[in-house]
Amino acid sequence: MEKFRKAYIRTYGCKQNFADSEKITGLLLTIGYDITKSPEEADLILLNTCAVRENAEQRVFGNVGALKKLKEDKPKLIIILFGCMTQQEHTAEKFKAKFSFIDAIAGTNILSSLPEIIEQARLKTQKGARIILKEAGADYDSFDESVKPLREGLFSANVPIMNGCDNFCTYCVVPLVRGREVSRTAENVISEVKNLIAEGRRDILLLGQNVNSYGKGNSENTDFTGLLRELDALEGEFIIGYMTSHPKDCKKELIDFIAGSRNISRHLHLPVQSGSNRILELMNRGYTREKYIELAEYAKEKIPGISLTTDILVGFPGETYEDFKETLDLVEKIGFDSAYTFIYSKREGTIAAGFADPISDEEKSAWFRELLDVQNKINERSYERFVGKVLRVLCLGEGRSNPELLTGKSRQGIIVDFAGGEELHGKFADVRIKRALPWALIGDLII
Ligand code: SAH
Ligand code: SF4
Repeated sequence: MEKFRKAYIRTYGCKQNFADSEKITGLLLTIGYDITKSPEEADLILLNTCAVRENAEQRVFGNVGALKKLKEDKPKLIIILFGCMTQQEHTAEKFKAKFSFIDAIAGTNILSSLPEIIEQARLKTQKGARIILKEAGADYDSFDESVKPLREGLFSANVPIMNGCDNFCTYCVVPLVRGREVSRTAENVISEVKNLIAEGRRDILLLGQNVNSYGKGNSENTDFTGLLRELDALEGEFIIGYMTSHPKDCKKELIDFIAGSRNISRHLHLPVQSGSNRILELMNRGYTREKYIELAEYAKEKIPGISLTTDILVGFPGETYEDFKETLDLVEKIGFDSAYTFIYSKREGTIAAGFADPISDEEKSAWFRELLDVQNKINERSYERFVGKVLRVLCLGEGRSNPELLTGKSRQGIIVDFAGGEELHGKFADVRIKRALPWALIGDLII
């Protein structure tokens, strides 16, 4: 098909959103669009939005405002907003009222309707945006196996294995905007991963809000460990990563399986959110501090060198400094390789939005800085455990900061830079680690 129109997609938020955008990109190619990296050049602009925190939302509002000028210069330009933020009707209405130049506002489950939404926008007769909201998550249509995602990069790929979430942590908007949990069939996931490996991709990341409950509700009997077992057995050398694991559902049997596997990543992203039992209960997380520590210690013992990373929420409504100190204590006890830290952001429609929240923003920011200081100190030394050791590294190409070096990824998901030739791109190599930086390792190729 002749390509005569150009589309620009901007994605906010998590890896799941980026994976959805890759699928949308694949679909756009089939209906006559080429992709451009420049909004000025585009005939169609799509913004795939995020609702997890207020600052992500504010960025979208700012960026949409800036598109007004482009639309004035090019009245035929089509602007479509979609994703988690616009799945909430009150936000969709807010956009419609504030930005009359938007053509359509859709939610999270729109892949199959996108050609029609674009066509309607092109033929547009009405003034103001059309709002198209489908039930979040029901028959999640981004799993339409007939649309092939267009992926960036040569050697890595993100593969969503499920959508939505059934956990209802009291602070979190995800179950409201992505709907109930739905898993792809194991057959479809395995077939996609097989094809990716055949294409030369070796760094595969399985995505889900709670990968440990993968398969729930599917008629076939494959749970997450079963899925990993089948993927691990595929021919060749590759790394299968997975995120996010939920401490309440991540079982020791899974860790035992990973410990004995060939190709499953030794990186476990296990969000703790808080180190205080009182706060964990208010968050509805379903585990205690003691259970979390036990699980993390078990993983460290069974999988030597494992990289444990986490998410932490600071300033949950009702959190006291005493509670926060328990989080600091847990962070020091475990020694995460990295922690994604967030200040609590009130989300309309969640249970915690109704909780009293007496702590000031200034105080929360001070706690947040204290947590960063503690984590930064841990980062200064955490990778030292690898110095002198040999790691198996997948070479992903030239180094970003230093093109003289190659950059790669270890089985622990850690960046490793080393000197070597172009012939190593996309291949595994053994690298002896000589230096640890807070965010990467430096080593020498073993020949
Ligand atoms: N499903 C994953 C994470 C989903 S959202 C899990 O269960 O851990 C990613 C991270 O954003 C969360 O781990 C949490 O730390 C953070 N987050 C979620 N809701 C938030 C809110 N209302 N305010 C601030 N951070 C939030
Ligand atoms: Fe949100 Fe909790 Fe579900 Fe993660 S598990 S997406 S934090 S509700």
